[in-house]
Amino acid sequence: MSKQKHSFQAEVAQLLHLVTHSLYSNKEIFLRELISNASDACDKLRFNALADSSLYGDQPELEVRISFDKAAKTLTVTDTGIGMSREEAIDHLGTIAKSGTKDFVSRLSGDQKQDSQLIGQFGVGFYSGFIVADKITVESRRAGLPAEQGVRWISSGAGEFDVEDITRAERGTSVILHLRDDALEYADGWRLKELIGKYSDHISLPIKMEGEKWEEGKEEGQPGEMVKTGEWETINQASALWTRPKKDISDEQFKEFYKQVAHDWEDPLSWSLNRVEGSTEYTQLLYIPSHAPQDLWDRDKKAGVKLYVKRVFIMDDAEQLIPRYLRFIKGVVDSADLPLNVSRELLQESRDVRSIREGNTRRVLSMLEELAKTEQAAANAPATADASAENGAEQKVDIGSGESTPAPEPTEMAEDGVTDVVDKNDAPTAADAAAKFAEEATREGKYSTFWREFGSVLKEGLGEDFANRERIAKLLRYASTAGDAANVSLADYKARMKPGQKAIYYITADTLAGARNSPQIEVFKKKGIEVLLMADRVDEWSLSHMPDFDGTPLQSVAKGAVDLGDLQDEAEKKAAEEAAESVKPLLERLKEVLKDQVEDVRVTSRLVDSPACLVVKDAGMSMQLARMLKQAGQ
Ligand code: ADP
Ligand code: MG
Repeated sequence: MSKQKHSFQAEVAQLLHLVTHSLYSNKEIFLRELISNASDACDKLRFNALADSSLYGDQPELEVRISFDKAAKTLTVTDTGIGMSREEAIDHLGTIAKSGTKDFVSRLSGDQKQDSQLIGQFGVGFYSGFIVADKITVESRRAGLPAEQGVRWISSGAGEFDVEDITRAERGTSVILHLRDDALEYADGWRLKELIGKYSDHISLPIKMEGEKWEEGKEEGQPGEMVKTGEWETINQASALWTRPKKDISDEQFKEFYKQVAHDWEDPLSWSLNRVEGSTEYTQLLYIPSHAPQDLWDRDKKAGVKLYVKRVFIMDDAEQLIPRYLRFIKGVVDSADLPLNVSRELLQESRDVRSIREGNTRRVLSMLEELAKTEQAAANAPATADASAENGAEQKVDIGSGESTPAPEPTEMAEDGVTDVVDKNDAPTAADAAAKFAEEATREGKYSTFWREFGSVLKEGLGEDFANRERIAKLLRYASTAGDAANVSLADYKARMKPGQKAIYYITADTLAGARNSPQIEVFKKKGIEVLLMADRVDEWSLSHMPDFDGTPLQSVAKGAVDLGDLQDEAEKKAAEEAAESVKPLLERLKEVLKDQVEDVRVTSRLVDSPACLVVKDAGMSMQLARMLKQAGQ
């Protein structure tokens, strides 16, 4: 078939425009995106070849080669991966298949600053090539197709692309960037090596560049130059990051790996790398992101944990590996036990997978506990922190990182015989701890960041993960009548309970201000009893799964008769009873008039300033929940 012109799908054209206009200050990421595509392509080939080894043809190596030509102003990324057929090139490089990306593009505002942040969260993939190139040529041949069925795709990134058939001896793909004049720095061996080290060191494939050597000028006075040696050298470490000993991995490498797996530009809050041995053997490398993705609220959103089996990539988003209420977690699980041909269906039934999911859950909860503990400690030691913040600002700290992740609690080991290989060298030193305080004190604590971004999702865990309910409960934070900050834990609350107080009181409303000013809490305020204020859509539902915390019942102040028990003195009780007697005729009248609207009308001791308020029966659905269901059309 001869040359054909195609138009980009509208969203692609839009995305392209944005990419070239707003990513200007961060040009170099294009290389990470192209190498990551090359690596994905090799992973796909390796995976497909498990079922059909003839796909390798006479070329068993999987590798990425990066070359440049200063004179021609080109930079080429070649892989020996799965490649693309003509149709695939048209589809994959001309349309956005993933609905998430479409949604994302439709949300872009046109405001450059805002959009570049959004794009940063997203990862722009192949099209990022146009940040540095005014023309891109892709040549490819799909594994298994004959040499004559190669394809060439060319575009200058402005609305259209051309596609034609070519003969290509090698399987796989070459992406040839025709560099813009202001991006010629990327046609340089040193610069490229630097970027490969920075972005792609952890990729398990060899990334190769042709060696260069200095050659003196042939004649007197003629300048020397770098010439290519014809030998391809591997530039990166080419071993998957999680397979290396923890102590050999720098924080920068952990962070860079995160950015790649999570398609995020921001650093993660925390991570944890562990080799778990026992009845099921696997390696887990889990990250807590520092900000929520666009689609956090989509409960169908796939979890971000990739599954590998013995270093072979099996699938993205293996939702069986992490419970839904932890769907924001990113990372990699590499199992030593699962079969290579494992399918999503098979994952659902596997005992190994269940045990990995439980292990991951426990690990994430300990990471969160650690973040919370660290933040608390920093808050309790403000003086030290201030002092060291001034002179120790540049110290390297990352207390929430893999290095400082606590060893699993003894109970965890006892439970299922899991033993983690905990490297003793990784224990944080006293200097680290001091530096940590400095860091924590100078900005919002990591746990607060976590809670702000993901707290509402974690609350789903109360209803979803009965086994870990108590650990989750300890991680909850709420606003309260005791202050303005929304960081009150249930344990804090308990520690402040009045003598004789028998319950943890809370109120739910549409907004925090609504909760704070609700007439239903007047008497609590008057008596100085703290009430937790909740305005999150999931609060009501999640608390219905947690009748008590650490032996103390949780009681909604909007439900039933509030029994303040010992907190109410005899005189008050008596006064209330007398009042009730005296207004009996009025009550009867109100009940009669409102009989279709309310179930009962009572005298209450809970109000101080307001004349009346609505409450629901103890066992009744709360008003907040009723309103929510009504909104949802039920
Ligand atoms: P993503 O990698 O997130 O899918 P990209 O924009 O980076 O998005 O790439 C779009 C698609 O183009 C890929 O999903 C893949 O199908 C195809 N593609 C890109 N680069 C290659 C490559 N080197 N080899 C094979 N297919 C590729
Ligand atoms: Mg990509």
